[in-house]
Amino acid sequence: ANASKLAELDSRKLSITKTTTPKELLPAEELVFGRNFTDHMLSVEWTASEGWLAPRITPYQNLSLDPATCVFHYAFECFEGMKAYKDTTGNIRLFRPDKNMERFNKSSARIALPTFNSESLIDLIGQFCKLEERFIPSPRGYSLYLRPTMIGTQRTLGVGPPGSALLYVIASPVGPYYPTGFKAVSLEATDYAVRAWPGGVGDKKLGANYAPCIVPQMEAASRGFHQNLWLFGEEEYITEVGTMNLFVALKDKKTGQNELITAPLDGTILEGVTRDSVLGIARERLEPEGWKVTERKCTMKELAEAADEGRMLEVFGAGTAAVVSPVRKISWKGSTVECGLSEGTEAGPIAQRMKDWIEGIQYGEEPENPWSVK
Ligand code: PMP
Repeated sequence: ANASKLAELDSRKLSITKTTTPKELLPAEELVFGRNFTDHMLSVEWTASEGWLAPRITPYQNLSLDPATCVFHYAFECFEGMKAYKDTTGNIRLFRPDKNMERFNKSSARIALPTFNSESLIDLIGQFCKLEERFIPSPRGYSLYLRPTMIGTQRTLGVGPPGSALLYVIASPVGPYYPTGFKAVSLEATDYAVRAWPGGVGDKKLGANYAPCIVPQMEAASRGFHQNLWLFGEEEYITEVGTMNLFVALKDKKTGQNELITAPLDGTILEGVTRDSVLGIARERLEPEGWKVTERKCTMKELAEAADEGRMLEVFGAGTAAVVSPVRKISWKGSTVECGLSEGTEAGPIAQRMKDWIEGIQYGEEPENPWSVK
């Protein structure tokens, strides 16, 4: 086939069929993450012979797929997680949607699903959000969670590149991750299960990466921990926590300088949009205060040593759901590493400031900030 003849994803071809049975809005306090969805969904089909077909917005509905469809057998599935926010003047804003589209394309390409024009999908998502506007609560902390998804739809048990695919976007109104303020979590450093490895696919947002993490998560929960801290290798490098990237703030052993550390993009972590945003803001706003901001490998041993020597400042997770999630302690090899929070304190100053800065941009309080897209 001549690839140049395949149709590009084209937002101008969008057709909209509105629901005749609009849903009732739930009271804000009854919103549970990912449980309730808006009236409509956005769908685009792709075939290997034609490329992207005309995008459609239709009433939210079930999919009908043959039991032999390749997504059910070989996990041809990838997804994104992003949010639409309503600002104080009623504008709908996306936060760095280009980053999500870039990652979505990398994920789909890795599993032989089609790639697409990022700007077209951002445009389509914008139109979809506009249509679902009444579902976006405006108070700070509330948003519309968007779940772009791509699946292989070819009806075959043959293992090969899917000849057809479906890209769809559904949306769920969500409330604040911490409705009553931060609540610091405790982690279990996990060495018996490995989430990702260099050369693997743990750095892509594939559905297949998530199911295998549930059993270790249940095991950690059975011992009283909120999340797994995924370690990698004999050196026990810290990678990520649950489904968030991890940041560690400590004082340098020799110089005493404050350092904000996160793992490098070496294949063992997902390229979080929040991670990238925390790094960018830290370089812009913390380095002038004397901080060193580094993407480097950091071992569990280094962390424990900093805690023992009183050099541990704070630890937090970073992701779309919570923005930041402070960590109180980490269980490691039968001992507990305290992460710098005094009793009765639920967040360190860097986590607190980062959340304020990033939310401020998301909700349009820095109107000129290019990360917020109306
Ligand atoms: N790591 C993993 C494994 C994740 O699933 C997520 C959530 N997408 C993140 C990190 C954080 O990424 P983001 O900041 O883009 O939400």
